[in-house]
Amino acid sequence: MPDNQYKSLLPLRQVVGDNGLLSRHGFSKKLGQNFLLDLDITRRIAKIAAPLKGCTVIEIGPGPGGLTRAILELEPDKVFAIEKDSKCIDALAELVKLSEGVLSIVEGDALKTNFQSLVDGSMKIIANLPYNIGTQLLINWLHNLSNISSLTLMFQKEVALRITAEHGNKDYGRLSVLCQYLCDVTLVFDLPPHVFKPAPKVFSSVIHLVPKKLEKKDLDLVPFIEKMTGAAFGQRRKMLRVSLKSVFPEGDLNKAFETLNIAPTERAENLSVEQFVSLAQFLSSLDSIPRG
Ligand code: SAM
Repeated sequence: MPDNQYKSLLPLRQVVGDNGLLSRHGFSKKLGQNFLLDLDITRRIAKIAAPLKGCTVIEIGPGPGGLTRAILELEPDKVFAIEKDSKCIDALAELVKLSEGVLSIVEGDALKTNFQSLVDGSMKIIANLPYNIGTQLLINWLHNLSNISSLTLMFQKEVALRITAEHGNKDYGRLSVLCQYLCDVTLVFDLPPHVFKPAPKVFSSVIHLVPKKLEKKDLDLVPFIEKMTGAAFGQRRKMLRVSLKSVFPEGDLNKAFETLNIAPTERAENLSVEQFVSLAQFLSSLDSIPRG
């Protein structure tokens, strides 16, 4: 953000105080409000998504605007920040004014927002997500990645570990397979509870996801992969030949295990993303199995 343009901004702590965002009645636990008031930290997060020049950025839940300020410093063309809490929106008024048209606040629920309708070209998503809706938002984006060029997202550490876990790990599951099939995924750094106001009970982590360039036929496989991983991890202690029987005919499964050299006695946790994809490709190619 060009120095002079934002010189008159009040310190974040004062913005939070003046708007009563951390007062007993002001702060909303239900909205997952754990604010970052240290600009060194928000700059570290925004820089992961750099460069932002020439880009449109979507931010979910700008709150008092700590991460928004860091995003604006990197001079994107446009930032749409979606916020549900009107008190936070009031707190952002000065930043909107000084941004001279770059920052627009969209008041509403991010779960109900049609992101594609806000942006013509591609967008980068950057957010310190409200924890209660973070996973759902990520899954929604994964189903509609066509104009998303990257996602830089703060989650509870436990969710971040589920996203990035490799097979053979206890955190590995449906979310790991879906995210890693569709995106290159990196856990960039962890943050301790005390850097947030108010402090949550658990550590948080920033994840960076870059969608892979997949063809339509690969994307068409997604519902099939979801159906398979839903069944396999829904009964994760069972052998695959048992857990997958609920969604695929036994004969087709046996053919797939044999052709792909996968032990039918294996458990979901031990199957790599590539193996899940091969299984999905093989089974979806059989006439006896409806796609999706
Ligand atoms: N970005 C700010 C920061 O880093 O300090 C605030 C992050 S705080 C973890 C989550 C923010 O999301 C809050 O400002 C909260 O009001 C907002 N929020 C919660 N649920 C939302 C929803 N469904 N749609 C849009 N914003 C939401």
